Amino acid sequence: MQIYDIVRHVGISEVQWQELIERHDVVQEEFEGVCFYRVTKKIGALDKGAIVTGDGILFDFPRIARIMHLENGIRNAYAQPFYVEEKVDGYNVRIACIQGRVLVFSRGAYVCPFSTDRIADFLDVKKIFRENLNLIVCGEFAGPDNPYNIEHPPYVKEDVRFFAFDLMTMNKPHSIPIEERYKIFDKYGMPTVRRFGRFSVTDSAPLQKIVKELDETGCEGMVIKPVNPVEKTLKYVTLGSCLRDIHVTASLMAEMSSEFFTHRIIRAAMFIYEQTHSLEPEVFAKLGEALLKPIYESVTKAARKEVIDERFLLRFREEKNIQHMTDHLYRCKVKFEILSKKKEGGYWYVSFARKCYASYEIIQKHLEGATHVD
Ligand code: ATP
Repeated sequence: MQIYDIVRHVGISEVQWQELIERHDVVQEEFEGVCFYRVTKKIGALDKGAIVTGDGILFDFPRIARIMHLENGIRNAYAQPFYVEEKVDGYNVRIACIQGRVLVFSRGAYVCPFSTDRIADFLDVKKIFRENLNLIVCGEFAGPDNPYNIEHPPYVKEDVRFFAFDLMTMNKPHSIPIEERYKIFDKYGMPTVRRFGRFSVTDSAPLQKIVKELDETGCEGMVIKPVNPVEKTLKYVTLGSCLRDIHVTASLMAEMSSEFFTHRIIRAAMFIYEQTHSLEPEVFAKLGEALLKPIYESVTKAARKEVIDERFLLRFREEKNIQHMTDHLYRCKVKFEILSKKKEGGYWYVSFARKCYASYEIIQKHLEGATHVD
C-alpha cells in the first residue's frame, strides 16, 4: 500500500507527511531493501518510536509508569485483578514481518541488525508470521553478550536470550489483552518473561514474597499488568537493581545527569522502608562502593592516559550482519573499536570496545588543574 494511504488512517494528509519528512520528525530508513519511516517526535496519534511501513504502522511501545511503594501503588491503580511478571533487564524490541522480511526494531525505531540476526534462535518466526502476518511480538533481549546493556538477568550466564512480554497488532496502538496474549505465547512456544500469575489488591503478602525472592536472586523487579486494559501497567524494581544500576554507571558519572543517581537512591530508600523496614549497615557500604569506586577507577585510568571503555562480545549467525551492526553503531554515534572476529561452531564471535571519550576528557581537564565554577 502507498504510505499516504497508511498515514491517512491516523489523520495525516499527503502534504503534512511531506512536511514531517522535511522537518525530520519522520526519517526514511532502509534495511536490505526494506523501506520504512522512523517517527522521531510525537505527531498526532504517532509517538516517538512508531514505525510507518508500506504494510502498516507499528505503534511505539508505551512507557510504563513506576510505583515506588508497592502496596499503595497497587491499591491506587487497580479495582480489578492483575497479572505479575518478572521485569527482565535487557533491551526492548518489537518484531514484525515487513515486506516478507522478519525485522527486529529497537525502541527508537531503528532495525537492530544484531537482534534481527539472532531472533530465529529464539522464535519460530516462519510459523508465527505465516499464521499471523500482522502480529508484532514485543519483548526483551537480555544476557551478558549484548550490544547495549551492561546489566543482565542472573540466570542468563552467557550470550543473550529473548523473552516475549507483549503482543501488538499492526495499525493498532494497544496490546492484545493479557489472557489472549498468554494463549498465543503458549501456542507458538514463545519464550517469555517469568509469569507469577493473577493477583488482586488484597494479595499483598504473596506479592511481597515475590519481591523478596526477586531481590535475593538478583532480578530487576516486576511489571504488573491489568486484566482490564483501562487500568494501568506498572513497574516496581528491587533494591539490588538500584545498586547495580549505580555501580555499572558510576564510572561515567562525569558525563551523566545527576538525576540518574538520585532517582535510584530515592528508589532504594523507598524499597528499604517498605520491604525490609530497617537500614542495615552493609547497605551503606554497598552504596558507597557502587557510587565512589567506579568513578575513582575512572580517575586513575584517565591519569594513566587510558580511555574508559566498555567491552562486549556479540555472536552472529550471518557475517553480513556484522557490517550492518557496525554501520548501525556509527549511525547511533557510538564510538567503538572491533577487537577481534572469529568463526566457531556456526557463529561469528565479534568482540567490541565502546570508547567513553566524554568522561575521559572531562576528567583529564580536572587532572590538568583546569578551573570551573559549579
Ligand atoms: P519506560 O520508557 O517504559 O518508562 P525505560 O525505557 O526507562 O522505561 P525501564 O524503566 O527499564 O525502561 O522499564 C520499562 C521496560 O522494561 C520496558 O520498555 C521493557 O523493555 C522492559 N520490560 C522487561 N520486562 C518486562 C515485562 N515483563 N513487561 C513489560 N516490559 C518489560
